[in-house]
Amino acid sequence: PRRPGTGSAPAPTQPLTPPTPLTAPPPHAGPLETARAQLASAVQILGLSDGVAEMLASPRREINVSVPLRRDDGTVQLFRGYRVQHNISRGPGKGGLRYAPSVDLDEVRALAMWMTWKCAVVELPYGGAKGGVTIDPRHYSSAELERVTRRYTSEIMPVIGPERDIMAPDVGTDAQTMAWIMDTYSVNQGYTIPAVVTGKPIDIGGSLGRPTATSRGVVHAARAALADAGTDLREVSAVVQGFGKVGSHAARFLAEAGTRVVAVSDQYGGVRSDDGLDVPALLRHAQATGSVVGFEGGEPLGDTDILTLDADLLVPAAVEGVLDEATARQVKARWVVEGANGPTTAGGDRVLAERGITVVPDILANAGGVVVSYFEWVQANQAYWWTENEIEERLERRMLEAYAAVARTARAEGITLRDAALTIGVRRVAEAHQIRGLYP
Ligand code: GLU
Repeated sequence: PRRPGTGSAPAPTQPLTPPTPLTAPPPHAGPLETARAQLASAVQILGLSDGVAEMLASPRREINVSVPLRRDDGTVQLFRGYRVQHNISRGPGKGGLRYAPSVDLDEVRALAMWMTWKCAVVELPYGGAKGGVTIDPRHYSSAELERVTRRYTSEIMPVIGPERDIMAPDVGTDAQTMAWIMDTYSVNQGYTIPAVVTGKPIDIGGSLGRPTATSRGVVHAARAALADAGTDLREVSAVVQGFGKVGSHAARFLAEAGTRVVAVSDQYGGVRSDDGLDVPALLRHAQATGSVVGFEGGEPLGDTDILTLDADLLVPAAVEGVLDEATARQVKARWVVEGANGPTTAGGDRVLAERGITVVPDILANAGGVVVSYFEWVQANQAYWWTENEIEERLERRMLEAYAAVARTARAEGITLRDAALTIGVRRVAEAHQIRGLYP
């Protein structure tokens, strides 16, 4: 049977400019296995009971829906949609909505679990959740994506809401997607409810600084990790895998901080320049053409794997599972700062640790996005908006505090930053669960 969103779909009504991908999407390295292995490691360090461990490994609630779409040409196509609320002990579910052909229930479960630990690590009063629709948004017009989004929203309506579960952008979705969700939800409730989603356009209650928040957080985390080793961003070179919402701005902020960004890539290919890329020019090129490919200020990356290039700092900011054992053995960087969710498999993580490479883990490094999502939700609940400066300052403070706590635990316990972050996140969730007690 034909998988939705691939192959013989009619030509999109909105022309797609990017060139054809060089390679198929990276092999699915089992994000749920990675997430469960990470949890097992934290459970062991914390000495939690089997019962609590099993509860933390299992999603609290899952919803699996059909999303039929009437295409622009009149035909009907069916997609699967999911929303997983992994844990809601510390507050409402929180997490992005992903549109990608790779989306399946296990991926959404893993991403939801990571959101739980992430929100706990940066001390947000949230649980963790994630949603997804198995669709390649590049093959659909904006009008079609709007219909998919509204139908998906309407199917999961009973479990979302500003006090229940709050969505945000993730791979394949953006501020416009959030506006459609907010509108669908609000129209059905009969009044405007901006706090049902975050990452909205500013005009309807979005927060200043939200579009760049994840990337700023990644750079704060990188700066803190370098400082621990007695160096700083001006002294290092970096490569960034992924040039989307996270990678593109991370490359820009790194360059602004004086880092030599020697290569970037996206799903279509990559460019490198050992003298350092002109990142603002590259951003303009990518905006105009839809890809970094063809940028004249560097050489094409060709078959070279960007993850194994010679640079001090590696920022994987694309998808899960790219740093497996084999690739981890080839990594030349001294620091890996994870902009993506789950870019390193459990095996990859072991190899990086053995090789003495410092990994600032996803649930800490990329938490800037959900931190400013929280600020957006707080502002919407108060109907009072903060200045960009206030947002940036509070974001930096929270990221640096979280980094310091994680680094302190890592040093004190003699464990990796990943295990330290997981331990802190998992402990906070287990404590909330224990204090609340088991009902009935
Ligand atoms: N999708 C982002 C993440 O994975 C943001 C989630 C949010 O803001 O709720 O962290």
